[in-house]
Amino acid sequence: MHNDIKEILFTKQEIDLMVHRIASQINEEFEGEELIAVVILKGSMMFAADLVRCLTVNVKLDFLQASSYGSGTQSSGVINIKKDIDSDISGKNVLLIEDIIDSGNTLSLLKKEMQSRGAKTVKIASLLSKPDRRVVNVEVEYIGTEIPDEFVVGYGLDMDEKYRQMDYIGILKPEVYM
Ligand code: 5GP
Ligand code: MG
Repeated sequence: MHNDIKEILFTKQEIDLMVHRIASQINEEFEGEELIAVVILKGSMMFAADLVRCLTVNVKLDFLQASSYGSGTQSSGVINIKKDIDSDISGKNVLLIEDIIDSGNTLSLLKKEMQSRGAKTVKIASLLSKPDRRVVNVEVEYIGTEIPDEFVVGYGLDMDEKYRQMDYIGILKPEVYM
């Protein structure tokens, strides 16, 4: 598994710092309020698990799975909701928790969807962002860090369901998916 990694981008400690910084921002902004954290499966599960444990505001958890990537590293371009949340979010503060924003298609669609269901606010926390790849403009309130246009795995991020278990984020060797 580790042999497939070309370069370690962020260690566990570096990820921890990003998560804590994002949590502080959210705690400050939503002090005294309630949040529904919508964890976008499967990639953001590690980030979400670490993030919500640093939150001091009241949080309810819900889960949603969208599909935009097929097999490999290329987006299929088509996004649909594979598994929906159970909560009624009307009048509620929604926080979408995502692992990485790439083209922006997924988050743009999900944000609109949450808004159309009557959410009071819809904010986005994404651990990583690839600005060079953006196709759709979507505002991300909380970002861990920006990264170059390379395919990364670990800390929940996968390639064909592999590498999610790694506690660091690394760039995959191109020969692994070519
Ligand atoms: P978007 O809709 O913004 O193009 O795609 C977002 C989704 O694509 C992410 O939730 C993630 O599943 C996947 N994705 C984008 N870039 C990467 C990457 O570098 N590594 C992995 N593992 N997934 C990625
Ligand atoms: Mg994803």
